[in-house]
Amino acid sequence: VLALENIEEMREVVGLWRREGARVGLVPTMGALHDGHLSLVEAALRENERVMVSIFVNPTQFAPGEDYARYPRDTAADLEKLEAAGCHAAFVPTAETMFPDGFDTHVEVGALSRVLIGAHRPTHFRGVATVCAKLFHLVQPDTAYFGQKDYQQVVILKKMVADLNFPVGVRMAPIARSADGLALSSRNRYLSPAQRAEATALYRGLNTALAQFRAGERDPVRLTATVASEIAAQAPGFEIAYVVLADPHTLAPVEVAAPGQVLLVEVYLDAVRLYDNVILS
Ligand code: AMP
Repeated sequence: VLALENIEEMREVVGLWRREGARVGLVPTMGALHDGHLSLVEAALRENERVMVSIFVNPTQFAPGEDYARYPRDTAADLEKLEAAGCHAAFVPTAETMFPDGFDTHVEVGALSRVLIGAHRPTHFRGVATVCAKLFHLVQPDTAYFGQKDYQQVVILKKMVADLNFPVGVRMAPIARSADGLALSSRNRYLSPAQRAEATALYRGLNTALAQFRAGERDPVRLTATVASEIAAQAPGFEIAYVVLADPHTLAPVEVAAPGQVLLVEVYLDAVRLYDNVILS
């Protein structure tokens, strides 16, 4: 797979693709690639002749004291996985390339960035929106692919693209999970074996609530209580940041459960945060 570090090289490659008439898919990542990332690459390959994956641990979406310095980085292994997946090129800029000294322009999606994860990470989504705005301008993909795992992020980026008229489609791909249900995440490696086992309580709780919904339960209070009690029983060391049944577009809590709404949970244990969600169907 072509590994492109600088902007001019990357633009040249995409320019060539465009002249050949190829549709271009972009998969933004922070590296430490796992099967969840690769499922996005597969989705992009189904809809585009050429696929670019960006690998960039974005400093602006980490607050001081968060895990920017220790976030896992393994570009050599990532490039091998991308090659095997059939990805055409990787954009691997340095922090200096993306955010040179004096960088001072930000994209902020308002209300959606202040709820849920944004309530305790007040600058996080500004960093995400800004880096994605840059990547969209740099690569100019037809379509960019994101995971449902970061549901709030997808809603925010769709809003940015709509509000600022970016000519880019934003697609959401389903959550890739390990056999025991835990959503794959580069941060799962921060968990001890015991915590890793307890963490399966998130998906078990969400699934139990989903089964209740399918059996006719329409009260968000009962559905969210199911998730909370599963976590309290199976993973007593995890603090619950929130369990919310939310409107899929506004992320506001709903009063009556209905298909299409999203049940979101986030827990934390010391500095480690885990989140997961299911869409009611
Ligand atoms: P990250 O490298 O964690 O920033 O993730 C890059 C992209 O991969 C984001 O759009 C994530 O939502 C997506 N992603 C991460 N984990 C998963 C997963 N388990 N299933 C599907 N997509 C995922």
